[in-house]
Amino acid sequence: MKKQFVIIGLGRFGVSVCSELHELGHEVMAIDMNEDKLNEVTDVATHSAIADGTDEKSLRGLGVRNFDHVIVAIGDNIQASILCTLLLKEMDIPDVWVKAQNYYHHKVLDKIGADHIIHPEHDMGHRIAQHLVSDKVLDY
Ligand code: ATP
Repeated sequence: MKKQFVIIGLGRFGVSVCSELHELGHEVMAIDMNEDKLNEVTDVATHSAIADGTDEKSLRGLGVRNFDHVIVAIGDNIQASILCTLLLKEMDIPDVWVKAQNYYHHKVLDKIGADHIIHPEHDMGHRIAQHLVSDKVLDY
């Protein structure tokens, strides 16, 4: 079944999630405050918008609260990531995934109700180590 996603923050992680969701046949609204970043997803995002993920008015104006699944892929700016997540949970979005930078970031995200907290480098390292010791064929 086709699902609809919002991705806020188009660094390498956000773009990669966006491309894969598109490849799998889902709809994605891509948001970044930097116009150049949106150019990277013109072929894979269903909609795209220049907006600040910490600006409640902008998020509401884009209809983000009508989506069930939002991925916060804002990287270095931990404060922006936290504020954006808080706004999304206040809008009652049921499934919010957030990329965390470190343990303290993770802890705050957990407290404010992030539904899934991801550490891409850590999680990928874990997965690769498991593949390295498994007899199964590697899937990448
Ligand atoms: P990656 O490792 O995935 O490449 P990163 O951890 O280096 O990413 P950044 O490049 O710092 O992360 O941020 C990812 C994206 O989030 C950038 O394209 C940046 O413009 C965007 N971004 C940062 N703050 C905001 C914000 N408040 N609203 C919307 N987008 C933002």
